[in-house]
Amino acid sequence: MSNIYYCNKCKNNCSIEIVNINSHAYYSGYKCSKGLSDAKSHLNQEDKILTARAILTNAKMSTIPVRTTDKIPFSLIPDAIKIIENTKVKAPIEKGAVIIENILDTGINVVTLRKVL
Ligand code: SF4
Repeated sequence: MSNIYYCNKCKNNCSIEIVNINSHAYYSGYKCSKGLSDAKSHLNQEDKILTARAILTNAKMSTIPVRTTDKIPFSLIPDAIKIIENTKVKAPIEKGAVIIENILDTGINVVTLRKVL
């Protein structure tokens, strides 16, 4: 997978190619460290599958790891984390159980990442 970040911090207007190989990002086309730094920030602001922890009740652990079923827009991640961290899940619960449907009207669900008896 690759994408292009267009740096316009100076008149050089570099096109920085970002190639993702085996979950490692490689950058090319930048002429200075400022451009490389901006391209890395850009990559980190992409839509993501979000992982977080919800509140777990009726169990020894107090939280349970969960994730979204698809990538959610970067701008929604802070609000999604707040919702997830305030959601209560009662044990016992299966791995993959839906704990939030259609989070923030994205059409994406949030599911558990482990089974708790
Ligand atoms: S990477 Fe550096 S040289 Fe290239 S446009 Fe950006 S700031 Fe200018």
